[in-house]
Amino acid sequence: MKKIIVAIDGYSSCGKSTMAKELAKNVGYVYVDTGAMYRAVSLFGLRNGIITDDTIDETRLQQAMHNIQIGFKTNAAGKQETYLNGENVESLIRTLEVANGASRVSAIGFVRRELVRQQQRMGIDKGIVMDGRDIGTVVFPDAELKVFVTASPEVRAQRRYDELQAKGQPEAYDAVLANVKERDYRDTHRAESPLRQADDAVLIDNSHMTKAEQSALLQHLFDERTR
Ligand code: C5P
Repeated sequence: MKKIIVAIDGYSSCGKSTMAKELAKNVGYVYVDTGAMYRAVSLFGLRNGIITDDTIDETRLQQAMHNIQIGFKTNAAGKQETYLNGENVESLIRTLEVANGASRVSAIGFVRRELVRQQQRMGIDKGIVMDGRDIGTVVFPDAELKVFVTASPEVRAQRRYDELQAKGQPEAYDAVLANVKERDYRDTHRAESPLRQADDAVLIDNSHMTKAEQSALLQHLFDERTR
């Protein structure tokens, strides 16, 4: 069967990584979480005093980009984990502080260019499912299957709110909703590769879909493209 590239883009907390991971597992493709790469750069910057509350030292960050090696490995339970210079940083990059730093470094041109170059190299043999914000528009504009995932801000905030409750880190629903809207604004209004739907991407609004329904739809789109 021919191998393709699957590009999945969309808003934050819309469930795109769940869909992407499941498809990759079912069809035996490599899954790449590009958000984790921006988060790893953020962690490096925070640890080394390059990113502070109100500034980013871009000169030092640019030099540091050569010393930032990001990789992925699958653990014994079959879950993919992110590595920064050989260290497993999977749980460290999932904090709110690192997410905020990621959103800030992801607006810097030289950071994007370097990570995009690495992502393109990962897809050289195809057989890859990659999720992010600019995969179908910038990283793989020729991807055989492009999907743009969305859901209403209220639905995404409710899902995030439930997740935080389940993790024992409750936040007020209004604060979660405000955060979702703020990240949407930043992602869609930045000068460098703003989030937008590629002209040839299939739009999936999963506001009223179950996980099983959206997975079945993605699998169907994949089957159509690989037939
Ligand atoms: O998807 P996730 O929330 O892990 O992404 C972390 C940050 O990296 C987001 O704020 C997003 O704006 C940025 N990002 C990006 N381009 C990508 C993936 C993520 O700008 N391809």
